[in-house]
Amino acid sequence: MDKGRIKIVGMGPGREDMMTQQALAALDAADVIVGYTVYLGLLGERFSEKEKLATPMKQEAERCRLAFGEAVKGKDVAMVCSGDAGIYGMASLMFGIKEELGEEASDIDMEVIPGITAASSGAAVLGAPLNHDFCVISLSDLLTPWELIEKRLRAAAEGDFAIAIYNPSSKKRRDRLRRACDILLETIEGERPCGYVRSIGRDGEEYRTCTLAELRDEQVDMFTTVFIGNSQSRLIDGRLVTPRGYRI
Ligand code: SAH
Repeated sequence: MDKGRIKIVGMGPGREDMMTQQALAALDAADVIVGYTVYLGLLGERFSEKEKLATPMKQEAERCRLAFGEAVKGKDVAMVCSGDAGIYGMASLMFGIKEELGEEASDIDMEVIPGITAASSGAAVLGAPLNHDFCVISLSDLLTPWELIEKRLRAAAEGDFAIAIYNPSSKKRRDRLRRACDILLETIEGERPCGYVRSIGRDGEEYRTCTLAELRDEQVDMFTTVFIGNSQSRLIDGRLVTPRGYRI
């Protein structure tokens, strides 16, 4: 029997109109959609008739093996991830598991379909905070040693990058953003304009601008993306803007 194909689909921040046509077509064509329970719940009416297989958070490798198991049976599988599948998503793990499975999975065709990542959708809500060189740093130390996260924060501040911060908080680690701000404040002035966006593209979306010193004391949750301006960033009409450098 022919093996199925796997598409690793970035579904954007959550709303259907923020998914690409390519992503929607991949989901339409799939025999089965595999994903984290919460993301499958966001898919809504359009895919209500599809077979869906969910695994909870922290069972990512299991979810990948499940996807390959279905493809080996001959099904076309869509593995959904929030935002972009290749930005703190499942794409790299899927390649790793494919390699681990060896022969069994060798002729399964795998394609990565990009989606709008939270840095991009969140930036649009705030204004234009990433409109010059920027970097993206996750504060999650589940898979990355905290020392390396600190090193990257220092390097980003030193390089005068605008910064998008993912995973600024978790249930267990509420003080991560505070610790990160303390490191940034070694180099960056407290008045530096910053902002954050919660639940981008979902019910209850909200944003706030503040200074880096104020950000240090903000309580943000894990559904929030945080933005730190560079030395040229400023507020225009209440929106966070990092200029490109045009003379106006
Ligand atoms: N692959 C995803 C990122 C997953 S890491 C992407 O490309 O967007 C999880 C982190 O992403 C969250 O802690 C949060 O910082 C950010 N994030 C993802 N979706 C978000 C949303 N809808 N609103 C705000 N932040 C979001």
